[in-house]
Amino acid sequence: MSYVDEVIEQVEKQNPNEPEFHQAVREVLESIRVVVDQNEEKFRRDALLERLVNPERQIKFRVPWIDDHGQVHVNTGYRVQFNSAIGPYKGGLRLHPSVNLSIIKFLGFEQIFKNSLTGLPIGGGKGGSDFDPKGKSDREVMAFCQAFMSELCKYIGANTDVPAGDIGTGAREIGYMYGQYKKLRGLFEGVLTGKGISYGGSLARTEATGYGLLYLTEEMLRCHGQDMEGKTVSVSGAGNVAIYAIEKAEQMGAKVVTCSDSTGWVYDPDGIDVAALKEIKEVKRQRLTEYKKYRPKAEYRVGKGVWSVKTDIALPCATQNELNLEDAKKLVANGVLAVCEGANMPTTEEATKYFQDHGVYFVPGKAANAGGVATSALEMSQDSERLAWTFERVNSELNAIMVRLYHNIDDAAKKYGFEGNYVVGANIAGFEKVVDAMNAQGIV
Ligand code: NDP
Repeated sequence: MSYVDEVIEQVEKQNPNEPEFHQAVREVLESIRVVVDQNEEKFRRDALLERLVNPERQIKFRVPWIDDHGQVHVNTGYRVQFNSAIGPYKGGLRLHPSVNLSIIKFLGFEQIFKNSLTGLPIGGGKGGSDFDPKGKSDREVMAFCQAFMSELCKYIGANTDVPAGDIGTGAREIGYMYGQYKKLRGLFEGVLTGKGISYGGSLARTEATGYGLLYLTEEMLRCHGQDMEGKTVSVSGAGNVAIYAIEKAEQMGAKVVTCSDSTGWVYDPDGIDVAALKEIKEVKRQRLTEYKKYRPKAEYRVGKGVWSVKTDIALPCATQNELNLEDAKKLVANGVLAVCEGANMPTTEEATKYFQDHGVYFVPGKAANAGGVATSALEMSQDSERLAWTFERVNSELNAIMVRLYHNIDDAAKKYGFEGNYVVGANIAGFEKVVDAMNAQGIV
C-alpha cells in the first residue's frame, strides 16, 4: 500500500466519527500524492505525514456561563494547535451549535496550507465552541466570551497562538474576548485579530476575506482572457465573507443576484443591495426575510436554492458542504464558468470532481479565502510595530498577496502536470513550504 493510502487509513481508524476531518485529510493527501511518491522512502522514515495529520496539541475545555434569567449553561470550548512550523498558530474561533472536534480539526488542518499560501509567517490552528450567539442578549454573549477566554488565555499569546473571528465570532465577540484576555493576563498585545480599529485592529480586515476572494477570482479570469465586468454571480451566505464578496463583485461591475442564510435565500434580479444587507445583518442582526422590505421586487424563498439560479460565477460563502453534486450539476447545466470558495470546504468532494471534469475553473477555499488570514497577519505586523496602516495600504497589500497566491498555485499545478487543477496546485504549494520548515527543524 502506498504511504499516502496508509496514512489516510490510519487517520480514519484513529479518529473515528470525524467525517469532516477525514474529508479534509483525504483531499489534501490525495492531491500531494505526486510529491510524496517522489520521496516516499524519506517521508515514511521521517513519519512526515503522520506528523502533519496529528495536531501538535488539542485543547478541550468547559465553558460555564449564566444567562439573563440566572440559569447556568455549560458549553464546550476547543483550540486545536495544529502546526507551528512556519509561525505562531493562527486561525479563527467558530461559535455555532454544530461545532465539534471533527469540524475544528478539519478547519485547523486546512488552515496550515492556507496560511502557508499567504506567503506570511503563520502556522495553522482553529478553535471555537458549540455556543450559539444567535438570539442571545449582548450581556449573555459577553458572559460566554469572558468564560471562554478565561480558559483559552492560558494557551494563546501574540507570539504563540493568535485566534481570530469565524462563523458566529464577529467584532462584538472579539471585543469581549480581548477585554477579558487583557484583564487576566495584563497584556495589551496582538493576541487576537479582527479587533476594533480603536484598540489595535486593522483597517480593511472586515472586508479582507470577501475582497480577497474577488481579487483572486478577477486575476484567474484575467489569465483566461475574461474579467468580472458584466458577469452574473451567485453568492451563498449573508455573513462577513458573503457581504464583502458581494460588495467587491459589484464594484468590479458584476451583478450578484443571490445571498442566503441558514433559513432561506434571496433572489434579487436587479443585483443585491449591499447597503440593505449590511443594515439587516451587521446592524440589526435580523433574518433575510427582512430584505424584501428594502427591495420589494426581490424574492425570498425558504430553504436552499442559490445554486439553481443561472449565473456565470458561483461563490459559496456560507459553510462546509453546502454545495453538493446535485447543485454542481445544476450550475454546470446553466453554464457556470468559475466556482471560487469563500467559505471553508463548502463544496463536497463529488461536486468538486464534477466541476473539474466539466472544465469549470474551481478554486478551493484554502486559496480563494486566504485574504482574511493574510490581512490578520498584516494586523499582527501593525500591532508589533505599534502603527496603524491606511486602508489603501492594507487593501493594496491584500490585492498583491491574492494575485501572487493565484500564480503560486497555478505554477505548482503546472509544475506537476496538473495544469488548471487549483486544488492540487494549492495543496502542493502550501505543503512544500511547511514540509521544508518541518524538515529543517528536525523531529520535534
Ligand atoms: P458569518 O457567521 O459572518 O456568516 C456565515 C453565513 O453562513 C451566515 O449567513 C449564516 O447564516 C450562514 N450559515 C452558517 N452556517 C450555516 C449552515 N449550517 N447552513 C446554512 N447557512 C449557514 O461567518 P463568515 O462569513 O465569517 O464565514 C463564512 C465561511 O467563510 C465559513 O466557512 C468560514 O470558516 C469561512 N471563512 C471566514 C473568514 C473570515 O474572515 N470571516 C476567513 C476565511 C474563511 P445564519 O446567520 O442564518 O447562521
